[in-house]
Amino acid sequence: MALDITELGRTGIRVSRLCVGTLTMGPLQANIGVECGAELIRHAIDRGVFFFDTAELYGTYGHLRRAMQGIPRESVVIASRCYAYTYDGMRRSLERALAELGTDYIDIFGLHEQESRLTLRGHADAIQCLLDAKQEGLIRAAGVSTHTVEVVRAVSEMREIDVVHPIFNKRGIGIIDGNTAEMADAIQAASRRGAGVYSMKPLGGGHLFREAPEAIRWVLAHESVHSMAIGVKSCDELDADVAIASGLEVSDEVLRYLAGEKHLLIEEWCSKCGACVKSCRHGALKLGADRAEVDANKCVLCGYCVAYCRDFCIKVV
Ligand code: SF4
Ligand code: SF4
Repeated sequence: MALDITELGRTGIRVSRLCVGTLTMGPLQANIGVECGAELIRHAIDRGVFFFDTAELYGTYGHLRRAMQGIPRESVVIASRCYAYTYDGMRRSLERALAELGTDYIDIFGLHEQESRLTLRGHADAIQCLLDAKQEGLIRAAGVSTHTVEVVRAVSEMREIDVVHPIFNKRGIGIIDGNTAEMADAIQAASRRGAGVYSMKPLGGGHLFREAPEAIRWVLAHESVHSMAIGVKSCDELDADVAIASGLEVSDEVLRYLAGEKHLLIEEWCSKCGACVKSCRHGALKLGADRAEVDANKCVLCGYCVAYCRDFCIKVV
């Protein structure tokens, strides 16, 4: 059974229902390097996955650039985003992405980690920049990523935003302001309005690895979710995800491999500066007696705090 292809809302962009998230292969997580990352991306393309998610924060533009060398640009779909909130800041981030990816256009570019209607309003100038970039042909669609139901609901009323990238998994892990049913409802509303929806974290950032087949198929059973991004760091992991998403049985050995535990490691040389604590949108970090400490029940293993530690104390392992 082959992997399905579908249209991302009314954007005119056709995507594989599985999207490879590149955060996990980049310097914030497994850090497999540009060459290995490019090989993994090419392997995904060979398996029918041609939709790739990155971000300015992830440090994986080089991996994608290398992977795209020698293949037609239109054979892959790329989504990226940044934290810029001004017009000029957004323009700079977009130009950086175009240059580092070595491409004339990015399929979906937009705002990273939006929290509420208020933060969306605060990014009005950056959104205007995206609209202008669309007119210029530098991007095909404007997007936002979010861990909140409120932002997905807001997108269902905002014609400026073409694509939303929400957190969505069967247990609602990582949704900041609601539960699974509320997120499913908001996603449906956004999709009805014509927005493209590609979700993130089907395995709750690692908490659902033990039930990966059910968790992946549960997300893909939602027609309003046009594609689902899943982070991979090896070809075996990618093959397993493709097999599951294609409705194939996977061996016990593969399931044991997928079930491998991940956790956040905070090294003993932590100076307790508190930067990571402030960066975590899930309230999963606090300063303990000797170092920063993580609450594993709240942590979705996104790895974003890794970028805020100047002393390289935090790792997702
Ligand atoms: S940012 Fe790094 S040094 Fe600062 S508290 Fe967090 S882990 Fe410790
Ligand atoms: S502690 Fe770090 S990895 Fe965990 S949710 Fe917070 S930012 Fe993400």
